[in-house]
Amino acid sequence: MPSEVKVEISVIVPARSEEAVLRHSLEVIAGVMRGVTEHFELIVVDDGSDDGTFAIVREAHAADSRIKGVRLSRGFGKEAALMAGMRVARGLAVITLDADLQHPPQLIPKMVEQWRDGAMIVHGVKEERLFGGTFHRFAAQFFNRMFSKIAGFDMVGSSDFKLLDAKIARLLVERFPEHSRFHRGLSTWMGYRQVSLPFKVAQRKAGVSQWRLTDLLRYAWNTLTAYSSLPLKLIPVMGLFMLAISVVLGLEAIMSRLAGNAVSGFATLEMTILFTGSMIMIGLGIIGQYLSRMYDELKRRPLFLVDETVGIETSGEE
Ligand code: UDP
Ligand code: MG
Repeated sequence: MPSEVKVEISVIVPARSEEAVLRHSLEVIAGVMRGVTEHFELIVVDDGSDDGTFAIVREAHAADSRIKGVRLSRGFGKEAALMAGMRVARGLAVITLDADLQHPPQLIPKMVEQWRDGAMIVHGVKEERLFGGTFHRFAAQFFNRMFSKIAGFDMVGSSDFKLLDAKIARLLVERFPEHSRFHRGLSTWMGYRQVSLPFKVAQRKAGVSQWRLTDLLRYAWNTLTAYSSLPLKLIPVMGLFMLAISVVLGLEAIMSRLAGNAVSGFATLEMTILFTGSMIMIGLGIIGQYLSRMYDELKRRPLFLVDETVGIETSGEE
C-alpha cells in the first residue's frame, strides 16, 4: 500500500559516513517535515559510507516508513548522491540538504511556502560562512568569487540547500546527462521562477567534514572546466604574450648588432627557451584536461550504482 500514498515533498539527504550525526539529523528534519505536510518522504542516500550510516536509516525506517534509504555501491560523490535521490523521489517538490544540519531544516517551511506561491526553484543562500578553519573559509570564498566571475552568474553564498519543483528535478535527471555535475550551478542556469532565501550556516553538529584540500582543488578545477572554456581561451593569450616578449628581445638583438655589439645574452636565450617550453607544456596540459573530460563524458558510464534500498521500490538506475 505505501506506494499508493501520494507524496507531496521529498527531502533528499546525501550522507557519507555520517553515523555520528545522522540519527539526530533525521529526528530534526522529520520533526520539521511533520509540521509542513503529512505527505513527505525523507530519502537518505548513503554515498559509500564505511560506518553504520545505513543501519541508522533502516532503524529510522522501521520507526517511520516515510524515512527511506538508497545505498550506493561505493562513494560516487555528493553530486551523484543527489542525483540518485532525485531519481527515486516521488514528491511534487524535492528538497536537498546536508546530513550534518549545516543547512538549517527550520528554513524548510519558508521554502515550501515560496514553492506553494509558485516558485519553481528556491535557493538557500549562505549569509556568511561562519565556521570552518581559516583556510577552508578562504577557499570557499575564493572559489565562489572566481566561479561567479567566470560562469557568468552570481554564485557567492550559493549552496546545495534547495527546493526544486518536481518538473525541475525531472529535467535535471532526464535532460542533463553530464557527468561532471554541479547542483547549485545547474539549477541556477535553468531559469524559471527562482527565489533566494538567506540562511546562516550552522556549525557541523558532529562527525567530520569529508572534504580534503585536494578534493576542494579538484572540485574547483572540475567546475571551472565544466562551466567555462576560459582556460582554453587563455592559451592563445599566453601565446600572444610570448610573441610580444620575443619581438622585444628580437628588436634588442638587431639594435645591438647594428650598434656593433655582439648579440647579448646567453642567459636571455636560455630563459626564453625555458619560458616558451613551459608555456607550451601548460597549454598542452590544459587541452589534455578538456580532452580527458570529453573522454569521461563520452564513455557515458552511469553516474552511480545502487546496492540496496529501504522503503523504495525502484533503484533509480536506468
Ligand atoms: N557527502 C557525500 N559524499 C561525499 C562527501 C560528502 O554524500 O563524497 C555529504 C555529506 O555526508 C554531507 C554533505 O555531503 O551530508 C556535505 O558534506 P560535508 O559536510 O562533508 O561538506 P561541507 O559542509 O564541509 O561543505
Ligand atoms: Mg557540512
